[in-house]
Amino acid sequence: MTQRATAETIHRTCPLCEAHCGITVHVDRDANRVAALKGDPADAVSGGYVCPKVVGLRGLEEDPDRLVKPLLRRDGEFVEIEWEEALELAASKLSEIRDTHGANAIATYLGNPNAHDYAAGLTLPLFQRALGTRWRFSATSVDQLPKMVSSCVVFGAPFAVPVPDIDHTDFFLVLGANPLASNGSLMTAPDMRGRLRRLRERGGRLVVVDPRRSETAEVADQHLFIRPGADALFLFAFVHVLFEEGLVDVGALADSVRGLDELEALAKPFSPEAVAAATGVEPGTLRELVRSFAAAERGACYGRIGTCTQEFGALSSWLVDVVNTLTGNLDAEGGVRFPRPAHGPGRDEPRRKGRVPYARWRSRVRGLPEFAGELPVAALAEEIDTPGDERIRALVTVAGNPVLSTPNGERLDRALESLDFVVCVDIYLNETTRHADLILPTTPPLQRANYDLAFHGFSVRDHAKWSPAVFDPPPEARHLWQVLLEIAGRINGTTAEAAAALALRNVIESSVGPGSTCPGIDADAAAERVAGLPYPEAVLDVMLRAGPYGDHFDDDDPGLSLGKLQAATHGVDLGPLKPRLPEMLATESGAVELAPSLLVEDVPRLLAALERDASGMVLIGRRHLRSNNSWMHNLPALAKGPERCTLMVHPGDAERLGLSESGQAKVRSRVGSVVAPVEITDALMPGVVSLPHGHGHSLEGARLSVAAQRPGVNSNLLTDELGIDALSGNAILNGIPVEISPA
Ligand code: SF4
Repeated sequence: MTQRATAETIHRTCPLCEAHCGITVHVDRDANRVAALKGDPADAVSGGYVCPKVVGLRGLEEDPDRLVKPLLRRDGEFVEIEWEEALELAASKLSEIRDTHGANAIATYLGNPNAHDYAAGLTLPLFQRALGTRWRFSATSVDQLPKMVSSCVVFGAPFAVPVPDIDHTDFFLVLGANPLASNGSLMTAPDMRGRLRRLRERGGRLVVVDPRRSETAEVADQHLFIRPGADALFLFAFVHVLFEEGLVDVGALADSVRGLDELEALAKPFSPEAVAAATGVEPGTLRELVRSFAAAERGACYGRIGTCTQEFGALSSWLVDVVNTLTGNLDAEGGVRFPRPAHGPGRDEPRRKGRVPYARWRSRVRGLPEFAGELPVAALAEEIDTPGDERIRALVTVAGNPVLSTPNGERLDRALESLDFVVCVDIYLNETTRHADLILPTTPPLQRANYDLAFHGFSVRDHAKWSPAVFDPPPEARHLWQVLLEIAGRINGTTAEAAAALALRNVIESSVGPGSTCPGIDADAAAERVAGLPYPEAVLDVMLRAGPYGDHFDDDDPGLSLGKLQAATHGVDLGPLKPRLPEMLATESGAVELAPSLLVEDVPRLLAALERDASGMVLIGRRHLRSNNSWMHNLPALAKGPERCTLMVHPGDAERLGLSESGQAKVRSRVGSVVAPVEITDALMPGVVSLPHGHGHSLEGARLSVAAQRPGVNSNLLTDELGIDALSGNAILNGIPVEISPA
């Protein structure tokens, strides 16, 4: 173990949510614990801000429920075993199932904490390749999959997501998002309250369109209630008015956009008057909003979880980008822009163009389309419990709790019982991992180094930061990437080291030599430069050196390398977002495709929705500042305070339904029912009720002692696995038809 001073201060980022705030960790080495956690004022993006969740980092270190040794189910009980036995068992059982039933008999499910662990992100593809299965699921399809699908066909790549240039905009139009609670999502923007305050101070305007008057809506200049799931209709009406009133102006992108005429024709039927009944938005209000947004010098339209996790997720995601483009705000200062992360791609690297990775295969039971190598998680339970030769027989979960986070959690809960083998790489015995045969716990965030591989790509300001580990892990502990490599190596009949060496070599060969961004160095010489680094650090060093700000393996070049980044304790500020079009477009045409066929073909489905009766009660979710993942409910510092798992109901609905404040309501959907305490509030629009997600900690066998004291109810007992955005396959988590009665 490294010798360290008695008291130490370490600067890094908090990896608990997408904001990735810069933090200063004061460590008491004698007690081997965190003495204090504060915001780092020198961080270029967060500027010293932290939210109350940050104490969760210390809570995770000290949580007695956090697993530290592998657990094996033996005679119905979990017993601790050594790592060698655990890794060998995981690899041999998975290999046996693959050899007997084929690779697709094994499925994987990845939870969203993987996106906050760069080393896991660099290793998971190796692990997936070793398993060889096409049955890959993740939290993506209960979250941002529709945005990835639309970005892929509009801009040419799943993660080509334009981010609001919030620090320079004059008009911030927010749909289905609550950035005051999330600090941004697909928009890394810590201290949202400060950023919104500065927007107002420079005379800017904030408008929120949401079925709930959320924390963000509370501070907005204007809040419009909208029926859940009606965002695509609202946005199409927005586009209709832009064309009808001659307000379309794509600005500097005139030569880089295609499909304007087709778009105008598509928008014709969706006048504000035609969509008013379905959206609940008064036509005059919508028209006025369009005019003022179009008149703003710099405007940014932003849609998030409410626009994705609904029936028309892909269409809504697309239309957000369309609105920004038609008003000249795409790739413009104060509009929406594409960040340029330091890890690449590099300066001169040609963008890869190719077939959209959509529906290259489909799920067995319902024929749901694959996207970018993954199937919608709404299909997971049926792929397990529907008989047939090709059914899933084994599951590997990595940092995920799909019983609480995916639709019809009860069906999945039952289905998991029927599997031949379940291995969960996880730090908790939770509602999902209680079904495991084997649980492999890995290091918590402060025991590992990090680089924001995913979230630098969504940041409202370009920057790069290395986060050193705060604590040395215990000698017997394993990092997630090490566990994945160990299992992959054993399945491949080789070693973790050999698997890592091969993967690193592939990264190097695609980054250096003739025709690359680093023509001045060959693969052998580059490999020598990174020799001796652990696998993830070696890969990251190559990516940084070959990236747009890299030193290209030239030590005399002032550009970035991992070593230089590690020396910059507060990170490297790479400046405000800059123009990136058309250079970063990867569509076949090389243009922004405003009317791509995949999305255009889905428009008739939206047209049909105009005719539907929109009078029934529907359920939406909500997020709290102190919560993000379900395990956060097990940390006393985050779980304390008033009961949060309440059913919010509008006063008029409460009276009509006979519900009283603090009484209990029974909520029923097609798939299940829950009983939850009632909170009557006019923050919801009539006809809509809201439950937060990630609760329901009362299942037998889980070991979450704090969460179990106030378990709440699992909102995914109501969400329906058959309810998906038909185009993307994303689960509908907002706009669930429900019936409500006093309990
Ligand atoms: S907003 Fe809170 S949880 Fe998210 S990164 Fe910042 S401090 Fe951590």
